[in-house]
Amino acid sequence: MNTSHFPLSRPFKKGRGGEGLSFSQTRLIQPSVRQFLLTALVILFVSPLHAESVSLEELLQKTGAALMWDALGHKGQFSRDGNTVVFRAGDPWMVLNGRQLLPTGTVIEEQGRLIFSREAADTLYRVFGIQKNSSGYRLKTILLDPGHGGRDSGAIRHWKSDGVEIPLAEKDVVLEISLQLADKLKRLYPNKSILLTRGQDVYPTLEERVNMANKIDLAQREGMLYISIHANASLNSKAEGYEVWYLPKNYRRNVVDKSTFSGDSAIVPIINTLWEEEFTHESIRLADMILSNFQHQLGPGVPNRGRREESWFVVRNARMASVLLEVGFITNPNEAARLRQPEYLRKITLAIYNGIREFVDYFEKKGR
Ligand SMILES: [Zn+2]
Repeated sequence: MNTSHFPLSRPFKKGRGGEGLSFSQTRLIQPSVRQFLLTALVILFVSPLHAESVSLEELLQKTGAALMWDALGHKGQFSRDGNTVVFRAGDPWMVLNGRQLLPTGTVIEEQGRLIFSREAADTLYRVFGIQKNSSGYRLKTILLDPGHGGRDSGAIRHWKSDGVEIPLAEKDVVLEISLQLADKLKRLYPNKSILLTRGQDVYPTLEERVNMANKIDLAQREGMLYISIHANASLNSKAEGYEVWYLPKNYRRNVVDKSTFSGDSAIVPIINTLWEEEFTHESIRLADMILSNFQHQLGPGVPNRGRREESWFVVRNARMASVLLEVGFITNPNEAARLRQPEYLRKITLAIYNGIREFVDYFEKKGR
């Protein structure tokens, strides 16, 4: 066999003279030092990539595998649940569990970064049992925005209980839902960042909320969700039920007349600042997923007021699906009574949670 075509045909034999650290030697590095090296590598390697390649960060996220990298030997080992895959930069194969040679696309080491070809990534997904239909798209961040806060209570209703007036304020209801939701999402998605525009009774300005959303950095194939949570108010005390607002297609900045705006007047100041086109379709899908979960959780007794189209707040980030939820009317006595029950808030939270979950599955699996 003419090995000149395969200059690196024996890349993984340990202890070949002058080849740098073998894996067994690598393992001897102190854990803390190794941790540091790995962290440094991850930081180095996560950066803009070629169109059809996959970042190391994404591979680690998706496979849940650990990487040990031998910088001198240019070799790496992914491991998880007893499976190991060893590769060397430049080689068109990987070695599974020290025995099986897997032909695959190459891994390139370029200016201190590892770049995985789509084929190499697919091989790793197969080995670690990641769904084949995964699109490579990833929802990176979920930003929850509990409406109002602090001096701005939002919709409010006063209850008399034993002669004492007790207020039911929108700002408290939506904060409670948002905190519970953030908690559940953090447990479900330890690798995504779950953020809140406020985690307590304070009032970030609308501009501050929007800036938070627009400042989130997204790499290629990454997306985010912005979910604003409100409770409704109406002069008609019979108005009842939940609704979901999204941004209409072809929205362009235009001035909204406060006197003709029929929705939650508190969101008027953010109208005209939302810029979103690309994700209208995604926002509609997210809205529908949340609505059907509301219906499922809250039952036929609570009116589904449906999906509504309005141009409210701003998101300049094009890869963001955004919706505004009105979970019920504080001004309707029946609904206000329900909104005072922790069990009802738990159901609302669960509905939103399940809607988000469905959306994430859809977003990360679909091909584009
Ligand atoms: Zn509101």
